[in-house]
Amino acid sequence: MPMIQFLQKEGVDFRLCTKVTDILTHSDHGKETVSAISILRDSSQETLSVRPDDIVIVTLGSVTSGSSSGSNNSPPPLKTLIAEDELDENWSLWLNLGTKYSSFGDPYNFCTRLTESRLETFTVTLRDAEFFYRLVKLTYDKPGVGHLISLKHSNWKISVCIPRQPFFSCQPDNVQILWGYGLCPEREGNLVKKPMLVCSGEDIMAELLWHLGFPLEPILNNSITIPSVMPRRTASLLPRIRGDRPTVIIDEMTNLAVIGQFVEIPDETAVSMDYGVRGAQLAVSHLMGLPKQPEEARKRPSFPFLNLWV
Ligand SMILES: Cc1cc2nc3c(=O)[nH]c(=O)nc-3n(C[C@H](O)[C@H](O)[C@H](O)COP(=O)(O)OP(=O)(O)OC[C@H]3O[C@@H](n4cnc5c(N)ncnc54)[C@H](O)[C@@H]3O)c2cc1C
Repeated sequence: MPMIQFLQKEGVDFRLCTKVTDILTHSDHGKETVSAISILRDSSQETLSVRPDDIVIVTLGSVTSGSSSGSNNSPPPLKTLIAEDELDENWSLWLNLGTKYSSFGDPYNFCTRLTESRLETFTVTLRDAEFFYRLVKLTYDKPGVGHLISLKHSNWKISVCIPRQPFFSCQPDNVQILWGYGLCPEREGNLVKKPMLVCSGEDIMAELLWHLGFPLEPILNNSITIPSVMPRRTASLLPRIRGDRPTVIIDEMTNLAVIGQFVEIPDETAVSMDYGVRGAQLAVSHLMGLPKQPEEARKRPSFPFLNLWV
């Protein structure tokens, strides 16, 4: 990816297949300074030492943790949805930090409410121009110009995103792709009389075509739909109380900041990429002691991603 190539040229050392299991600190005058990072790589535990003038920025939690994918012919495997069984490294690190220090908020508020935060997404690969031809005729929008299309009568609360084509640089001319999701996958569909959660990709595509009023064939036969259940996709929007999310800059830490969708940033709305970027700007600016502060957040009247209006 161009971003990875750029960062590597700037000296970034990516460590793949490596889990951060703990962050170790030493105390001085009521403040904590990170001195080491414990990692698990190739099943062996290692410790990376950190100098007091190094800075450590940690992403807390993840909206994709616990996700599972199906195929065109089969639904995603139905997991038992016991929250504690699904706490991968994305959450265990935050839980660890929260146990040791008082100002890291409450990860349990976000990672255990799976039925409230669950959403099912799907991607469709089409080898037939018929779907896009009909969609442009229906919406008067070329691919990529509109926001999400929400099918308001859909029991599953389906929305689809039609990006500009080609979306991928290696995408063949005769292939088109789109992405969508259902906010209520536990409900029975309007055409397909079962919950989205137990549907194959083909079932989901049939439901989508039915809502749009398009004939099922030949589009269904020329498409591949991959469903994916994301039990924590909307966890960053769950009700919370003050203190559940830690602030980016933690007073008791001298060289550590936290970022991601589960930190507190005044006047910003979590969910999209810019929230993570904003957190990183604040973290770097503070920990590096930069004279220039990040610009104030822009106030937006609407929030198009996920079609939620605030
Ligand atoms: C289906 C979907 C569609 C989206 N569409 C949009 C969109 O159109 N526009 C938009 O702005 N945003 C969109 N988003 C949201 C966007 O993807 C996220 O806001 C963004 O990826 C968050 O970035 P992040 O770096 O904070 O966290 P993540 O992307 O979750 O990255 C965190 C990384 O840290 C790793 N990690 C976590 N803990 C550990 C550990 N202990 N040790 C080692 N590694 C660890 C994880 O494996 C992961 O790779 C979408 C998200 C989804 C799921």
